Amino acid sequence: MENNHNQLEQAHLDFISTVSHELRTPLTSIRGFADTLLQSHDRLTPEQREKFLTIIKDQSNRLINLVENLLTVSKMQSNKELMIYKSVDVVPFVESAVQMIKNQYKTHKFVCNYEKNLPKIMVDTDKLQQILLNLIDNASKYSPENSLVEVNVGQNFNDNTLIITIKDEGIGINEADLEKIFNKFSRIDSPLTRKIQGNGLGLYITKTLVEKMNGEIKVSSCDKGSEFKVIFKASSPEDNGKKAIC
Ligand code: ADP
Repeated sequence: MENNHNQLEQAHLDFISTVSHELRTPLTSIRGFADTLLQSHDRLTPEQREKFLTIIKDQSNRLINLVENLLTVSKMQSNKELMIYKSVDVVPFVESAVQMIKNQYKTHKFVCNYEKNLPKIMVDTDKLQQILLNLIDNASKYSPENSLVEVNVGQNFNDNTLIITIKDEGIGINEADLEKIFNKFSRIDSPLTRKIQGNGLGLYITKTLVEKMNGEIKVSSCDKGSEFKVIFKASSPEDNGKKAIC
């Protein structure tokens, strides 16, 4: 009992320390560039000013993302997330998520393939959107310019499931890291990932949301890229409109 308590306390302290670090890095950068702009405004070229303001904006966005992710984690952990289930066709959600990500990664190529006569699935549509955005964003973020991101939706008739596959041609994930990436604040420490911005909460949130909706998430990777699969049971009509707080 005492041991459990100490472990919880330690996890809590680690969490606070990680969050503080994640907050401090962008804040230090924002303050530094704001200071420079204030003190040396007249000596800076318009290009320099623009560059510094862009950094301030990017770092502010990074903070907003972090805070939004933290709020999601906190809601999920206190089991206060309201899920409103609906039986939906997944295709329009994939299309809209790809459209949104496409705007941020202009050189990537996005291809979607859908099997015919796909079953509907029972999900909270906001959460489905968040799951798709996280995975398609990661597939684009961790892969080079001009590469291909593929989203395939198919079904397995044997167990009556729908399978969404998100595949990239990116930097890949080592076998040993495959389990870790779903942990809170887990980022793979490599020269390639260090250059890419993130806070290590996206996949933790994604996996938690998938599992809350009774789905499953799987990952495989090789040196040619990574592949994430999200699997949901086909819906049955009686679940429609069901609400749950979890
Ligand atoms: P973030 O992207 O904010 O760091 P995530 O929780 O979404 O956090 O991902 C955790 C880690 O998993 C990432 O830091 C990255 O190292 C690795 N990762 C996730 N998706 C991919 C991918 N498609 N290709 C390669 N690595 C990935």
